[in-house]
Amino acid sequence: MENAKKTKKLSLAGQIFIAMVLAIIAGLLMQNAADFATNYIKPFGTIFLNLIKFIVCPIVLLSIMNGIISMKDIRKVGAIGWKTVVYYLCTTAFAITFGLIIGNLFKGMFPVVATTDLVYEAAEATSFMDTLVNIFPSNFIAPLVNASMLQIIVMAILIGFAVILVGEKASSVVTATEHLNEVFMKIMELILKLSPIGVFCLLCPVIASNGAAIIGSLAMVLLAAYICYALHAIVIYSLAVRTMGGLSPLKFFKGMLPAMIFAFSSASSVGTLPLNLDCSEKLGADREVASFVLPLGATINMDGTAIYMGVCSIFIASCYGIDLTLTQMITIILTATLASIGTAGVPGAGMVMLAMVLTSVGLPVDGIALVAGVDRLFDMGRTVLNITGDASCAIIVSNLETKREAKKARQAQ
Ligand code: ASP
Repeated sequence: MENAKKTKKLSLAGQIFIAMVLAIIAGLLMQNAADFATNYIKPFGTIFLNLIKFIVCPIVLLSIMNGIISMKDIRKVGAIGWKTVVYYLCTTAFAITFGLIIGNLFKGMFPVVATTDLVYEAAEATSFMDTLVNIFPSNFIAPLVNASMLQIIVMAILIGFAVILVGEKASSVVTATEHLNEVFMKIMELILKLSPIGVFCLLCPVIASNGAAIIGSLAMVLLAAYICYALHAIVIYSLAVRTMGGLSPLKFFKGMLPAMIFAFSSASSVGTLPLNLDCSEKLGADREVASFVLPLGATINMDGTAIYMGVCSIFIASCYGIDLTLTQMITIILTATLASIGTAGVPGAGMVMLAMVLTSVGLPVDGIALVAGVDRLFDMGRTVLNITGDASCAIIVSNLETKREAKKARQAQ
């Protein structure tokens, strides 16, 4: 049974990979029929994305609630919670610093694209205090309707805590949450079965309308971002899982491969959640820890997105002939960390949040148009890093918790 499941999962990852290769070939062949690809192929990709968006809210709400409830003790949730948040913040700050360093090293090789005629409609930027206030929901239903992920996380934590505090009397709520969680995970699994088609329909129009030429001109920017993604994974995650997670990095990356391939093709951290849970548990993460840490990470921990923001800020500044000062770079580190927290784990979300980073240092938001055409290519890599960071956290926190419990048990003897 277990074996049959494994073959099925691996074959889904394989199918996605094949779909990706086919999409690139078809896209290149259809460069003269880009309108056809956009009008008739892309909508099927949009259907797939809509289905993922439809399932995101209940999955995050229920799995965080479930994770908290299964810990049965608020102090334990606190112990796991602070370790998770500290790890997420530190790795994201490292990521954006890497992005800025490599971006600066590559600056001389970046193409200088003309910036006249650029128009990009950015969403209105909100201040830090407004962002803080907006994390707390003022209505029970609105967060679900508007898919406000941070508000949903606050709801999940509050309800989870209340269920633990009510205790025995809430046992039917515990069972209902567990069962509902299973049902929604199943729906997610069904949607994910469509992912090879989704990946093909999303990627093919991108390649067809951008053409190899544009990708070529931005190749250096893409290369800089991908070098950073790889460096961050190889240096930071390897060190972290080896020293704090007690796991060999090679084993970690090998075990994560199915989730990484899926993230690469789907460009959605939240969409990769079920596969990420599966891979992390197989690598030794506790179920209760993983079901709290991973959905939280899929929403707030975006190391790849932070790197992308750093590299793109440098690129956009260089196209406008602006040299960023040290103070501006430090501002970018702070705002990109916050912006990556606010980025939803769905395709393209990071590009929208890039506006916040550019505005914070006075760079023209229109500059986003320079990278918008190939955003998907940045997005695929950044999502791989985003979910790998979440899984490394689940493994590390599980290992630290196991050690803490063992120490407590020894002291009690
Ligand atoms: N697509 C990314 C993710 O799901 C978010 C982003 O656009 O940066 O993790």
